[in-house]
Amino acid sequence: MKAMQVRNVGGPDALELLDAPRPEPKANEALVAIKAIGVNFIDCYFREGRYPAQTPFTVGQEAAGVVEKIGSDVKTVKIGDRVAYSGTLGAYAEHAAVDAEKLVVIPDGVTFEQAAAAMLQGMTAHYLCHDTFPLKRGDAALVHAAAGGVGLLLVQMAHAIGARVIGTAGSEEKAQLARDAGADDVILYAKDDFAMETKRLTNGRGVDVVYDGVGRTTFEKDLEVLRPRGYLVLFGGSSGAVPPFDPIVLSRKGSLFLTRPTLVHYIATREELTMRAAAVLDAVARGALKLRISKTYPLADAAQAHRDLEGRRTTGKLLLIP
Ligand code: NDP
Repeated sequence: MKAMQVRNVGGPDALELLDAPRPEPKANEALVAIKAIGVNFIDCYFREGRYPAQTPFTVGQEAAGVVEKIGSDVKTVKIGDRVAYSGTLGAYAEHAAVDAEKLVVIPDGVTFEQAAAAMLQGMTAHYLCHDTFPLKRGDAALVHAAAGGVGLLLVQMAHAIGARVIGTAGSEEKAQLARDAGADDVILYAKDDFAMETKRLTNGRGVDVVYDGVGRTTFEKDLEVLRPRGYLVLFGGSSGAVPPFDPIVLSRKGSLFLTRPTLVHYIATREELTMRAAAVLDAVARGALKLRISKTYPLADAAQAHRDLEGRRTTGKLLLIP
């Protein structure tokens, strides 16, 4: 089978389309014939070595497809099921062997493309606003990169809860997408000072929570825009990693909370995974959660997808088709 692998970590050119043996499922695994693959920022972190993996490895954490074969202990899926998953390395390929406990059956009315677009970023947006900082009606939230993959979904969910959503975006076109998704205000943070603007928009009070997947370039100012005892939810670093930080600053800025959550700990049990995946995929099926699949690339063009994502040229979701 074809697989997009990394032999030496590095830039997008580190991605090589190679012939690899089709995996044989272990007793607890299912072999999935992949139909659509989700591209995520975490794929770039693995490719460049920021997150370590033993080389050579097949890139990718998210896909949707059909179960072709199952191991002897598998109870959660059967051959022929349409399934999706996230959090297992090796998705940029024609087939993947996946722990069957990590697979969810795709509901009727949801396509492979939609499922591959919704799993990782959708479940992330879901845990961020329902569990890490459970938003309530009337809360004010700042969402960075609001037109991104996680961003557009988080804006929709926060708006549906009834929160006031302030987004940031890198261009006017992106700002409009964030507004269309439900953001009440959008700050062009490359041009305007988002800390001053957020303070102005909240009459000096600050927001209850900042959801920040941008990291290095936004972190310090996030500490300026929170109300006392507000929550800084740092969930990624698309602009780079945040440097070491002295917790005393949290005290000085108003007894703030800082957390650095990761999806895997919010889908740690089968029960939580199926609850969260159902919440997201059922919302997609009902049309309550809109997916913006902005570009679909052949698997062979994965390097271009990474260049586009890292170059801030994308909105919403990117997919690869094997
Ligand atoms: P996005 O679609 O949001 O793409 C990244 C966006 O970040 C860009 O479009 C850009 O938007 C913004 N950005 C700001 N500065 C930079 C920069 N210097 N270089 C590149 N991009 C920049 O990606 P995802 O939705 O896939 O992921 C968003 C973040 O969420 C990532 O950090 C990712 O690692 C994290 N994540 C974390 C998870 C978790 O559980 N902790 C799970 C899933 C994702 P703009 O032009 O508008 O500024």
